[in-house]
Amino acid sequence: MQTFTLRLSYADFLSKLVTSDAFVQDIINLARLTNAPSLLPAAFYDISRYTFAQIFEPIEDEPTRFRCVFGGGMLCADDMRRLALGKEASAHAVSAVIHGMGRGPLAHSRKGAFSLHTHGPTHSPLSVCTMPGECRRDFAELVALATQHYVCDRERGYADPLYVAEELGALKSADVSECRACARALEVWASKERERMWKMIPLWFRLDS
Ligand SMILES: [Zn+2]
Repeated sequence: MQTFTLRLSYADFLSKLVTSDAFVQDIINLARLTNAPSLLPAAFYDISRYTFAQIFEPIEDEPTRFRCVFGGGMLCADDMRRLALGKEASAHAVSAVIHGMGRGPLAHSRKGAFSLHTHGPTHSPLSVCTMPGECRRDFAELVALATQHYVCDRERGYADPLYVAEELGALKSADVSECRACARALEVWASKERERMWKMIPLWFRLDS
């Protein structure tokens, strides 16, 4: 079971964590005990998506994924510190990825760098932005909306930059968007952002040393 789990990527492991009945801090403690550090990034990331109130003061009537912090099985002081630092880095990543949407995808679609073809960029209307002025305004509007939604209103996913990146990537569906180049560029940009952030997780939670 353990060998099998170790081969999973963070993404696979995270989805298993979310559907498991185990207390997430037990998974972290178990990974420490069994010297299985590859389990830690996904487990820390998972717990960081909850508010400190949910972690420290779970509501009695609601099923919870945390043991009472002052009961048994809580994280050690060093891991609590990692969790707090990682939560801060993760919150910053949400703002950064939203802000990045204002320039990243558009810059690439103007050059046709996200061509669907495999042999370098082409200049067909499908791969290069044909209405840069409108698309720039469109992206600026999406950045403002996403900032309001995730940063100001703290709606679902506000502490989960991987979720936010996935949602951002789908904001301009290629089926309905007037500029298919930008819709495609946004999708590809979002998936690269997710990949980049996966790799950053050990650093966010100080798990790299
Ligand atoms: Zn465009």
